[in-house]
Amino acid sequence: MKWSRYNYLYESKRHNCFLLYNSITNVLISLSIDVYRKLCLIKNGKDSEPIFRVLEEETLDKLIKAKIFVEDYDDENFILQKKFLKYKKSFQEKILSLVLLPTYACNFNCPYCYEAGLPYIFMKENVEDMIIDFINSFEVSSKLQLCWHGGEPLIAFNNIKRILTKIEKNEKKELKSHALVTNGYLLDKDKCLFFNDHNLNLIQITIDGLKENHNKSRIHKSGYLTYDVILNNIENVFKYIPQCSITIRMNVHAENEEDFPLLYEELKNRWEGQKYHLVMKYANKHNDSCRVECFNEKDKIFYAKKLFENYNFTNFNLYPKFQLGGCTATYSNSFVIDPEGDIYKCWVDVGKKERRIGNIFTRKYNSFLLTEYILGTDMYSDPKCLKCLLFPVCDGGCNLRRLNFKLNKAPYDLCPIDIENLDILFDMFYEQQLNTKVSKTREVKID
Ligand code: SF4
Ligand code: SF4
Repeated sequence: MKWSRYNYLYESKRHNCFLLYNSITNVLISLSIDVYRKLCLIKNGKDSEPIFRVLEEETLDKLIKAKIFVEDYDDENFILQKKFLKYKKSFQEKILSLVLLPTYACNFNCPYCYEAGLPYIFMKENVEDMIIDFINSFEVSSKLQLCWHGGEPLIAFNNIKRILTKIEKNEKKELKSHALVTNGYLLDKDKCLFFNDHNLNLIQITIDGLKENHNKSRIHKSGYLTYDVILNNIENVFKYIPQCSITIRMNVHAENEEDFPLLYEELKNRWEGQKYHLVMKYANKHNDSCRVECFNEKDKIFYAKKLFENYNFTNFNLYPKFQLGGCTATYSNSFVIDPEGDIYKCWVDVGKKERRIGNIFTRKYNSFLLTEYILGTDMYSDPKCLKCLLFPVCDGGCNLRRLNFKLNKAPYDLCPIDIENLDILFDMFYEQQLNTKVSKTREVKID
């Protein structure tokens, strides 16, 4: 047996204890100083004795169970198993997933928008008809996942109504899920009632902090303030589309970073018990027109630490979890279709003609881009990931960034956490557990 390469052993200065983590079993183990010292020697190859002579039987059993010690082939086999599951998911044919952009037009002018400058166009009826044809060309039994996006899709509400009516005529194509990504400004009672009749089950709306910062970030093109309108419209959803969940997204950047815990509290006080949850995302600099200061992925851990220490904010799940990853770009049966009928794999590529993978009329596909997105830019083709301790619990990050590096040498850093900062993560988790006295399901103690 050998020391797993997915182990992380360290002395926590903050908590004056010794911790050992394994990313395959995702277990955090607290150790006595004696066991810690022995494991340091084994890890560094300085103890030539067989491990069963160095460690007591009971301790060794627990460590083997936690995959701290593994057979020679175990770690490599884990990579293969994860890859197998990922590709099985990528190439499934039971679900057809479409992100439809009925327009590029938008009533907002957000400073970090990756679609800034796209033409003010709407989908024509012949494009809508070809989309129906496209849907019907997939296996009869495949279920449809539909998501409206734009621009601001609600500006093209008439297109949405028409397309939905046409889709619903095909009784054999079951609408498995129905989602809407909107800025929320136009989501009035009538639209909610319409979507309620068409089983809308998920809406994503962005609120970029408390009222003042939000109004500076989610800017209406005509200068109207948007915060109160959006919050009232979210209440329309609670009332008129009761089955629908709302994901409220806050794009955190340097100008609004203090607001996240405050917004969390404000929404909780206003909407406790309602069907929503707030998620924190970093605003991403996708192009030079971005007008906010964006953070790097690896700053997230310091941001979480700041929230934790300065605001005593503990309502986030710090602990890693097993992730297969995947997005529209990486599933073979997922497509983003723009108002002109151009087909893309990645949401951020829309409007960039060179990134189309095809068109709804010709159905000829760019196999280079398709294979790059699905196979060539994932974590299984990234030497850094294949060597990484966090491989089992990481989704590998965004393939678009790797593609941009491959094609244009655009620098990228998509790791959600730096290995050097793992101490910070586990120290916070440990403290969270101590403070909340949550059942320590992931923690095993070894004396
Ligand atoms: S490749 Fe990246 S930006 Fe594109 S859809 Fe996937 S996660 Fe999103
Ligand atoms: S994206 Fe970064 S953290 Fe994730 S597996 Fe790859 S190298 Fe590791």
